[in-house]
Amino acid sequence: MARDIHVIRNAHTIVGYDESRQGHAYLSDGDIAFDGNGFLHVGGRYDGAFDHEISGRDRMVLPGFVNVHCHSGEEPISKGLFEDEGTPALWGNALYEYSNLVEISDSAVEASLTVMLGDLMRSGVTTLVDIAGPRDCWLPTLAKSGARAYVAPGFREAAWHVEESRRLDLVWDKGRGREAFARALEVVDAARAHPSARLGGIVSPSQIETCSAELLQAAAEAARARKVPITVHAAQTMAEHEELLRRTGLTAVQYLKDLGLLGEDLIIGHCIFTDGHSWTRQRTDIDLGLLADRRATVAHCPVTFSRSGMVLQSLGRYRRRGVNVALGTDSYPFNMLEEMRQSMICSRIAGRSVFDVGTADVFEAATLAGAHALGRPDIGRITVGAKADFLLIDLKHSAMQPVYDPLRNLLHCAAERAVEAVYVDGVAVIETGRPVHLDYDGALAELQEAQDFAVRRLEANDPAKRTSTILARRSLPSI
Ligand SMILES: [Zn+2]
Repeated sequence: MARDIHVIRNAHTIVGYDESRQGHAYLSDGDIAFDGNGFLHVGGRYDGAFDHEISGRDRMVLPGFVNVHCHSGEEPISKGLFEDEGTPALWGNALYEYSNLVEISDSAVEASLTVMLGDLMRSGVTTLVDIAGPRDCWLPTLAKSGARAYVAPGFREAAWHVEESRRLDLVWDKGRGREAFARALEVVDAARAHPSARLGGIVSPSQIETCSAELLQAAAEAARARKVPITVHAAQTMAEHEELLRRTGLTAVQYLKDLGLLGEDLIIGHCIFTDGHSWTRQRTDIDLGLLADRRATVAHCPVTFSRSGMVLQSLGRYRRRGVNVALGTDSYPFNMLEEMRQSMICSRIAGRSVFDVGTADVFEAATLAGAHALGRPDIGRITVGAKADFLLIDLKHSAMQPVYDPLRNLLHCAAERAVEAVYVDGVAVIETGRPVHLDYDGALAELQEAQDFAVRRLEANDPAKRTSTILARRSLPSI
């Protein structure tokens, strides 16, 4: 299989990688040759031997997207429950009081993961970082999907408890946190040793405020001993920002620096509430310089946060300060192209200018910045020697017509509707817009039952014992 050579002949447009500029560039009317090991030829005429030919006419070939932050687990079944909710005393965020109440049965985990993978790949994701609780079906399902995937098994010592919708309390159980840490490392090691060779592991203390300094440092040590990245949610909410100020006198970024975590191998989930953010009261501008100097990565996931009225200020500003900002989807809709469009819109609103960020900047964040975060110069680009992870875009799709600048059409208009096929390691994982290796429809059918169960369990999981109709109000009354 690996020796089978495929040729894409006369592609209308190839988004290739220009080594001299270290960036993407358009190539017109060229060929691409690849096998299971990677790209063999990019642009111009390919005259070598081959086994299969794909027409490139009316198609654009793009590098696959690198999603550095998403959650399978219970996120896919939370759709439609809490988009209009939030806790006023916790800056309108629904995370602590509401998403904490969603329970998933063991039998629904695989379906939930399958739907997430199908949705992500359909939107062009070829590499993803899944931050979730370890389950038996995790590695086999990821491997079956055909995607390139990093598991980031979460662990923490404190659970969130919201008292009477007013106060966020942390309930500590360090013994349990240490056990979860040990189990997480086993899963990371199992992923790295997986025979598919497409799985990897990342050490993932869940949130900066739910882990002690000792655990965060032990996590970094374990990651560095294995030469794998570390990821942690930090500077993701004002409640967390205020908790850290009370506990340490520092912002999340400054605390990470003091602990020795702030480095090129660190991926910070969200990193919105830095000292320069207008909601914080620091009146300083230290954090972005620290992030840039230490070459840490920010995992920017604008859809989930802007849905709650929160926005990074701004993607363009972070980039201009030299911060490596990569993109993630966090929760549903698990659509990388929607995430890219939203990141552009949010950046231009937060930065108060159309010039804050450009289409090429966002495209780079979704490809090269993510590859850099994972230490993978062989992904996120179409160049000889890189992995054959790519998308075929249908330029004849109505949402792509008329074509002047195909990347702009894709990001501003068409999104996943124009994604025809997605390849990872030279093998199709999406064809005619559908997952090839997963039973997506079967998994989708199981989600309703899983969500019905989660809704039935809301009242039992709520410390205040409110009914599901109060907790998850529907947007319209039923008559
Ligand atoms: Zn997250």
